[in-house]
Amino acid sequence: MGYIHSIETFGTVDGPGVRFVVFFQGCPMRCQYCHNPDTWDMTDGKEKNADEILEMFERNRTFYRTGGITATGGEPMVQMDFLLELFTKAKEKEIHTCLDTSGIMFTEDRNSESFAKIERLMAVTDLVMLDIKHVEDVAHKELTGHSNQKILAFAKYLDEIGKPVWIRHVVVPGITYKEEALTKYGAFLKLLSNVEKLEVLPYHTLGENKYENLSMDYALKGVPQLSKDEANDAEKIIRKAWGKLLESDVSSSVNEEIDNNTEEKSGGIVCRTC
Ligand code: SF4
Repeated sequence: MGYIHSIETFGTVDGPGVRFVVFFQGCPMRCQYCHNPDTWDMTDGKEKNADEILEMFERNRTFYRTGGITATGGEPMVQMDFLLELFTKAKEKEIHTCLDTSGIMFTEDRNSESFAKIERLMAVTDLVMLDIKHVEDVAHKELTGHSNQKILAFAKYLDEIGKPVWIRHVVVPGITYKEEALTKYGAFLKLLSNVEKLEVLPYHTLGENKYENLSMDYALKGVPQLSKDEANDAEKIIRKAWGKLLESDVSSSVNEEIDNNTEEKSGGIVCRTC
């Protein structure tokens, strides 16, 4: 039995094709910009079993011909046994499986039971969407309450086993929207050979109301949204250090000074976990 926050039956931003998106309850991280603080406590979710979820998927299976199931949250790997069961049963039905994770639940102890479960999970996971919040450890701790060591180790492990990965990175003015941090981010990606896609997501403030409704303080109150142009600049800086500039970027300079004093603010892209 799993604790589920909600299910979206027609997701288009959570992996390839049209996705059946399962939002897991529970997350140990405390990202300052989290837009789903209502997913933090695992027991707040509705109980559902894997067969029930797969039956819901099967009802509209034709929608998902080029897509599949995405597990997101919260942090799906918090409910490892349930996630393993869901993806194992999904693969038996030849359903494409995508795991959207922060990587915080990774363990480097290769003799542990937890690591054995991660290996089994990866055997039934087609794609990992890995959300590396900050590449610098001290800043990562400030932003999320946790070190990024396990997360970076997970990224390297995924590379070692050749698992296809899409990287997601939310860029926040004054926190991750810094040339040095973005350059380091790209340099880290350069160490990996399994990254198929990079998604740079501009920070937006759409989740702020949730904190008010839950009577919680919002740590980034007053931080402006990132504009689309700023997000594009951030992506170019990462890509330059990564060595994977888009063709359209090759002719333009990517060393323009970052200007936080923007006037035009976009609503941004809604990250599933952010
Ligand atoms: S943004 Fe994602 S990883 Fe961070 S606290 Fe929220 S659910 Fe957890």
